[in-house]
Amino acid sequence: MWPADHQPALVGCLVPEMPGRGARPCPTWFAGTGFGPGVWYGRCMLGEGLAKGLLTTAKNFVGSYVSRERLVTVQYPEERRPLPEAARSFPFLVYDGDDPVAGLRCVACKICETECPPQCIYIVKDTVKKPDHTGKLQNQPLIFDIDISVCMSCQICVEVCPFDAIKMDVAYEWSTHDRFEGLLLHKEQLSKPNSYYHKIHPTEAAEVDARLAAARAKAAVARAGGAGKPAAPAAVKG
Ligand code: SF4
Ligand code: SF4
Repeated sequence: MWPADHQPALVGCLVPEMPGRGARPCPTWFAGTGFGPGVWYGRCMLGEGLAKGLLTTAKNFVGSYVSRERLVTVQYPEERRPLPEAARSFPFLVYDGDDPVAGLRCVACKICETECPPQCIYIVKDTVKKPDHTGKLQNQPLIFDIDISVCMSCQICVEVCPFDAIKMDVAYEWSTHDRFEGLLLHKEQLSKPNSYYHKIHPTEAAEVDARLAAARAKAAVARAGGAGKPAAPAAVKG
């Protein structure tokens, strides 16, 4: 008799019947003897996975002659698969307008540098402020470097940036013979226009634009409200 909790039909993976030897008992009976379920069950599963894998390979191989969908490889670098919108490689800095200096959203607050787990961001804040693309004076980074040989693409810098100034790029072809300087990206290489952000992550970029526009509108209303208020009475000197 099979134990109630190890019925062959329920277990689903029995030691296969050996020709001429009849059915083998459920391997779980041998638990603790060295012939435990892990050993036998694992062997059965391995065979099943192998068969499934070979079947999938065969289906793709034969199917690739009739359907391009079944082609699992492309002739890289002549051909490239389109990247999904959620693809990400390394961070880049977003700037608004046409000027990568005036339009840079980054205000060198260094939050991303502090939070980056492998510490691969290096920022030096400029001592002079510069007008941003709206004309408002802002802090700016004098140096903004990311060592992408260390970056692990975790996106934490993006999550913590309060200014939507740093986003994840999709560029991945960075192979170089220069392991050090070749993979250390400077501010000039990192700065890319908002239009580029829209091109690689359209949905996310549209959300960010809407959020920034709402924040700007709210600030404008607050400024207008403040301007309309009567001036505080001047202190009377005694
Ligand atoms: S990218 Fe964002 S978090 Fe990092 S320094 Fe610039 S503004 Fe601050
Ligand atoms: S993606 Fe992660 S590891 Fe790379 S710079 Fe940003 S926080 Fe650092």
